Amino acid sequence: MSQPRTPVFAANWKMCHGPVETGAFVGRFAARHVRRDDATVVVFPPAISLPAFAAAVSGRPDLEFGVQDVHTEVEGAHTSGISAAMVPATGATWGLAGHSERRREFGDTDDHVGRKLVRLLEAGLRPVLCVGETLEERESGRLETVLDTQIREALRPLDREDRSRLVYAYEPVWAIGTGRTASPDDAAEAHAIVRDRLAQADGCDAEGSVILYGGSVKPANIEALLAASGVDGVLVGGASLDPDSWASICAAGG
Ligand code: PGA
Repeated sequence: MSQPRTPVFAANWKMCHGPVETGAFVGRFAARHVRRDDATVVVFPPAISLPAFAAAVSGRPDLEFGVQDVHTEVEGAHTSGISAAMVPATGATWGLAGHSERRREFGDTDDHVGRKLVRLLEAGLRPVLCVGETLEERESGRLETVLDTQIREALRPLDREDRSRLVYAYEPVWAIGTGRTASPDDAAEAHAIVRDRLAQADGCDAEGSVILYGGSVKPANIEALLAASGVDGVLVGGASLDPDSWASICAAGG
């Protein structure tokens, strides 16, 4: 039997909010956000802001946080790399892998993404595997193939038990930071494809897996997206940077 899926509201701050802004953000957000027992709230600040985030949420264990990326190796001569093994000491409990900006700007391949998932799991962090198609891939009818490849290749190095510990984020690249959002029907269709692929993969709990939608989510469209079939939460960039906007997103669907 699958566990019921707990909704997740995730904020990806990307390269915004350094340690000083992080403290100010948390103060304002925590004053507005009422703890929810029916959902998880998690923020992915820049790595340099993780200690500031941890200090600011020390009285609010309901506000979880994670790292946006980790290196494929645990330790060594990898200047600027962030080791998953070093992350738990900050108090962070989550990690992203495969964000489209990492794939595009830093050349992360599906193979890298799989190795990063392994590192996150070894460190006891909860990974979010991000997948999604470009506009060109969608328009040429390759949505299913792209999602299938990204999921299959990223899961390849994981054993059965590890596979059941993942959260997924479907983020159409054409909707990220563009103001153009997938319609609830588009999101439902893609989430069904992701869940179908999980059902076919050995060891995955397709019905129990949380699948987030990401791409220009904001207070004005959050309710409609959350109501879409198979959408278990959201991964939000731009609209998570303002504490009031993020608080109203985190109050949705309650
Ligand atoms: P956006 O970013 O909400 O600014 O479109 C989403 C993401 O990249 O996770």
